[in-house]
Amino acid sequence: MALNSSFTREDVSCPGPRAYREGMNLGWAAAGAMVGVPTGTVLRSVIFQMSVPSGSPDRTACPHCGTTVTGWRAIRCGHCRGHLAVPVLPELVTAAVLALLFGRFGGAPDLLAFGFLGALGVALSAIDIAVHRLPDRLTLPAYPVLVALLAVPAVTGHHGGALARALLAGVALAVGYLLLAVLRPGQLGLGDVKLAGLAGLALGWLGWPTLVLGAALGFVLCAVVSLALLAARRISLHSAICFGPFLLGGAMLAMLASGGGGG
Ligand SMILES: [Zn+2]
Repeated sequence: MALNSSFTREDVSCPGPRAYREGMNLGWAAAGAMVGVPTGTVLRSVIFQMSVPSGSPDRTACPHCGTTVTGWRAIRCGHCRGHLAVPVLPELVTAAVLALLFGRFGGAPDLLAFGFLGALGVALSAIDIAVHRLPDRLTLPAYPVLVALLAVPAVTGHHGGALARALLAGVALAVGYLLLAVLRPGQLGLGDVKLAGLAGLALGWLGWPTLVLGAALGFVLCAVVSLALLAARRISLHSAICFGPFLLGGAMLAMLASGGGGG
């Protein structure tokens, strides 16, 4: 990916989804990293509370000593001082994700939509890796938020076509994943289906080629990582693999590689 700190628009007379600059803007990337650190601390709390098996109540007690955790963004247990999650990791990953998205889409009216999905994706990936689920409480409320964040630039920039395409793409990707989940039960769950609809919204906003690329990259990433883990004997052929992080990772790569959408 070409790093380019200069700000250039493809077509200043027609700002909108197609008018993203080329490459990365380092100033916006630095801003994304700075926003990402406190955002990661908020996500740490969400990840800690929701990393429980399906149907279980939220986790509220320290995993080391059982003391009830007080403070919504506690990093260490107030009683035994044990860490409540992997130290620093949520902050670092969120900073990296937002640095890339801000660097790519900084200054564009749909930056908030991509940043929202990126930050949500960090929490969903961490929970999926920990307990193999993508909580409805995170995915379902994200639909109206993401649609609203895309509707604002659609209305202000007269990109109704891009919004319609985003909605269609969200439905298409969710239906595609639903078919896969029905055909290959046990490999994909309904949580993946609901997450696919969210990814489809963002990918479709950027264009049909971005949607196809993002969907394909999710499976490519999963295959590459699975083969590497198999070779390293970290998993067996019968191991269940959480797909959410790959779905989100593929979508993010396609978003970063996209040339912008447009109505
Ligand atoms: Zn403790």
